[in-house]
Amino acid sequence: MTLELPPLRDRLIRWANQNSGSDHLAGLAAMLALLEADFSALPGVKTERVPCANTSAQALRVRYRPEAPQQVLLSGHYDTVYGADNPFQRCELVDEHTLRGPGVTDMKGGLVVMHAALGSYLSSSPPPSLGFEVLLTPDEEIGSFGSAALFAEAAPRHRLGLVFEPARLNGNLVQSRKGTGNFTVSCHGRAGHAAKFPSDARNAIAALAEFLVAAHRVPAEMPGVMLSAGLIRGGSEATNVVPDFAQALLDVRITRVADRPAVLARLDELAAPINAREGLRLEITGSFNRPPKECVPAEEAAFAAYQACGRELGLAPFSWIHAGGGSDGNLLSAAGLPNLDGLGIIGDHLHSDREYCVLPSLVERAQLSALFLRKLAGGRIALP
Ligand SMILES: [Zn+2]
Repeated sequence: MTLELPPLRDRLIRWANQNSGSDHLAGLAAMLALLEADFSALPGVKTERVPCANTSAQALRVRYRPEAPQQVLLSGHYDTVYGADNPFQRCELVDEHTLRGPGVTDMKGGLVVMHAALGSYLSSSPPPSLGFEVLLTPDEEIGSFGSAALFAEAAPRHRLGLVFEPARLNGNLVQSRKGTGNFTVSCHGRAGHAAKFPSDARNAIAALAEFLVAAHRVPAEMPGVMLSAGLIRGGSEATNVVPDFAQALLDVRITRVADRPAVLARLDELAAPINAREGLRLEITGSFNRPPKECVPAEEAAFAAYQACGRELGLAPFSWIHAGGGSDGNLLSAAGLPNLDGLGIIGDHLHSDREYCVLPSLVERAQLSALFLRKLAGGRIALP
């Protein structure tokens, strides 16, 4: 089946014009209905709505030949970072190659690529040796807390994962991703009059600030670690009161699984001198929600085969890179499933009102994934 751009572009506009901010339950439900209608129209598949933990939003599961000996898992999220009240709600065709709109790249464009690739693959009378499962989830942009269990449960049924997150502007895929964690640093001091001298008051803001300055030096000490305070609160308008409480929220990212205990130990070490002082207590709570996605040899082989498909189609050469942001590819890796990530549309300025995609890449990336699937099914590419 030859793939034409206009129907793919129109599907993308339809999907992106439907708001599905991670917290907008009615929008997510409407988006799920659109996906269900289009995915269930693929020949031979069965779709099913699947509940997620901690949210009433549902995932969509699509299965094809579940009895086949070899299975691949295709994944994508249908939530976006743009809530119902965000001013960025509609697509704008900038020129014939460029579409600006909420989620066009991250990652409704990827979902269109996946859908078109499967449509093309299924129309080629594929051999019965390969089945697939699609998981479309509603909460990736807020940490995948509700859908993480679905990935963990599905991973053992499969030999390879294909994740349709955006490709980079130069066409590169994602080789590895940082692990992401969210931490809360709470500092308890002792209130008192700011003018009392000598004083037994302990300023929680000052102690927290001391900790944060030291914590921000951790990335320089530990290559591959990123750390950033994103919110800080404490004290009151009454500046003559020494504040007894202050709190900060930290974004922490790691490159290797082994960084995890090391960075936690280092933060505890930095908290220790503050905790050693009378009247002060500094606590760190939180966790890593996505472990790092470290590249494994099975992925090297799959990527080389994917690149070869690109050459066969005459596409511009591409490579793969390390990304600071996490994705559900991290969860698949943590569950032991080798996966190729970044198979979606090409675009830029994700998570901003400048988000846009390169429309011709809808067709190119769909052809690429369809060819890859045909080669997998025909045994011309070995599954891990
Ligand atoms: Zn995404």
